[in-house]
Amino acid sequence: MRHFQHRVVVLIVVTAVAVGIAFIVTLSKMRYQAELEPPAQYNHPYHGRVDERVMSVAEARALCNSLNPSPPAGVACSWVSNGTCHIVLPNDYQAPVDTYRRHEIAHCNGWPANHPHDD
Ligand SMILES: [Zn+2]
Repeated sequence: MRHFQHRVVVLIVVTAVAVGIAFIVTLSKMRYQAELEPPAQYNHPYHGRVDERVMSVAEARALCNSLNPSPPAGVACSWVSNGTCHIVLPNDYQAPVDTYRRHEIAHCNGWPANHPHDD
């Protein structure tokens, strides 16, 4: 009986720790995704052609940094050339492709690289 109770306590503790970790991971992902969201004034479709490239995060990081941005690019990037909005998006990183698309199109819409949010 005591042995059984001990197992139940261990199971409850392990479950509680797992739930706690899942909760923290979910919160940090939500926070990360919220930080990627552009301010409303830039969060709209680009008025022009959009050239979108979706790839792995390793490829996206390498491509974005090969363009010698300042400051160095993260996992996605964008630039406007001849009126076309070019965006490079990762499809295997922490946020959905949609989130990176809104973020990078907002840069094409004029959102500065230092990500000001009007609070
Ligand atoms: Zn950005």
